Amino acid sequence: MHRRLIVPGALASVLLLAVPASAASPAPGAPGIGDPYYPASGNGGYDVSHYDLRLTYRPETDRLEGTATILATATQSLSRFNLDLGLDVREVRVDGRPAVSVREGEQELVVTPARPLAEGRPFSVVVRYAGKPSEVSIGGWTAWHRTPDGGVAAQEPESAAWWFPSNDHPLDKATYDVSVAVPDGSQAISNGVLVSQRSRLGWTRYTWRSDRPQASYLATLAVGRFDITTDTTANGLPVLNAYSKDLGADAGAARASLERTAEVAEWLTEVFGPYPFNALGGYVPNVTSGYALETQTRPFYSPRQFANGANVSVVVHELAHQWYGDSVSVRGWKDIWINEGFARYSQWLWSEREGEGTAQELADWVYAQHPEEDPFWTVLPGDPGPERQFHLAVYDRGALALQALRNEIGDEDFFAVLKGWPAEHAYGNADVGDFVRYAERVSGRPLAGLFHTWLYEPRRPAAPAAAGAGIAAAGSGRAAAVRPASWERIAATNAVHDHGRPGAAGGAGHLR
Ligand SMILES: [Zn+2]
Repeated sequence: MHRRLIVPGALASVLLLAVPASAASPAPGAPGIGDPYYPASGNGGYDVSHYDLRLTYRPETDRLEGTATILATATQSLSRFNLDLGLDVREVRVDGRPAVSVREGEQELVVTPARPLAEGRPFSVVVRYAGKPSEVSIGGWTAWHRTPDGGVAAQEPESAAWWFPSNDHPLDKATYDVSVAVPDGSQAISNGVLVSQRSRLGWTRYTWRSDRPQASYLATLAVGRFDITTDTTANGLPVLNAYSKDLGADAGAARASLERTAEVAEWLTEVFGPYPFNALGGYVPNVTSGYALETQTRPFYSPRQFANGANVSVVVHELAHQWYGDSVSVRGWKDIWINEGFARYSQWLWSEREGEGTAQELADWVYAQHPEEDPFWTVLPGDPGPERQFHLAVYDRGALALQALRNEIGDEDFFAVLKGWPAEHAYGNADVGDFVRYAERVSGRPLAGLFHTWLYEPRRPAAPAAAGAGIAAAGSGRAAAVRPASWERIAATNAVHDHGRPGAAGGAGHLR
């Protein structure tokens, strides 16, 4: 929270004279937060610290009703500001006073408070809203999964606008209390700790708390009929996994994967440092999609991830994101490599630990799988563009870049970087350049050239450059790549085509 600055009168008048008139006069907040990949995402002029969502959801009709209370601070003097929301708004209040709200476009809600908001001032917004999330289309697609017994919000880069008003961009993180009433017999799953569960007059209200900063796309809601398992980690964190009762033949494989969550998190803690959040778990709803997503504390897994048997590798990927993506988030969506390159590399490290192929062998294999003319190499993991944000190359070439780094600076410094980065930027945002500078600082070596080669050149790094980075290639003097035993399981997380969301073209729409 910002404190308002109080200065003696004489000094105040001097300061007032020094302030340009434009800074003092209220102006509209920008309709986007300034991300060139998604210009409408997020909003300018304020910073949210907390969302309190009190919702009611009817699975039979997909009708959601809610009251959102948003606590925010103005970062400029505001005459009005925007929220991102696709549902219908009944009433908006700012600091308790009725405010004028007007919809602009598909997701912008323009709110004009009764009085302008001064820069640095905390304020509250209450939005009463309702609608059917499955009928909300933004940019020609919907992030909401309608299921036979309810609905699910879990998508990237956006899903919040389908179920609550927000400043919908990872730059503006906040804490969340999510309370959802559903008919008895259904459950409502969200992030963090299940604080309470109370039944009354045929309805059960589930109240969840996620008490560390959380990006809006990492907030999740799933309503349906679930089998729930609970446990506590050795460190005392609550673990809660939820499985749709409709998983059929996939049910066993899904459980055999997610029930490894605490074990995988314990291993990742050795690699990345302390687990950053207040709870652990995952859920598998009865959706028809194929992907998984690192929703904070409680990743989302499509049943199809387990259609060919258990796959702990996907659990490793989504849990690795709790450090790389959730605690340390992208500054802009062009920085997706600091999420996906590391989550994919953690799958390689898990393979190494399980004796199913070292990260080096996986790197050699990936390099060998994509000949020079493969368009795979035209994707720049360091700035892939919105259409190729989730291209396979962001994952596999992105992980290859980390193996090149490991070979350049050695295991001691490399693992110091992997563990140090989540502490350096805990609960914040960072970009690719920040990572390059951090790795240079820890290792004491110039690394801009290496990262340029592996993240920013639209071609396959030539054999000598690859060999120089320790990747098996013609002339490297090492044997040709062989397929690591883990490859099938890792590739299986790529194999399931995604459904109709942008950014998945040509690639790994499967795994986020
Ligand atoms: Zn991912």
